[in-house]
Amino acid sequence: MDDQMTCPMCMGRVPRGAIVCRGCKARIEYGIPGWAATVILVCAITFGLWSGAVLTWWIGLIGGLVLFWLGSVGLQHLFRHRVVFRLRY
Ligand SMILES: [Zn+2]
Repeated sequence: MDDQMTCPMCMGRVPRGAIVCRGCKARIEYGIPGWAATVILVCAITFGLWSGAVLTWWIGLIGGLVLFWLGSVGLQHLFRHRVVFRLRY
């Protein structure tokens, strides 16, 4: 296993798991991006409200929670190798 990453900003070596690059002070993010988590949350709430209005409130509540849980697990799997370097200005 390679536990070193190369920073695309300064081409320096960064240990995997570091939050900030030692060379250029770029922030390093792992895992699920914020927008993807928001999309899942909005989908779950929309589904919950919709089925709560059309069906029954508890189906909407449980359905929304299940959808959110499934989405989170799916996203975690999808983005488990995601690493993003972001320069601070
Ligand atoms: Zn760097």
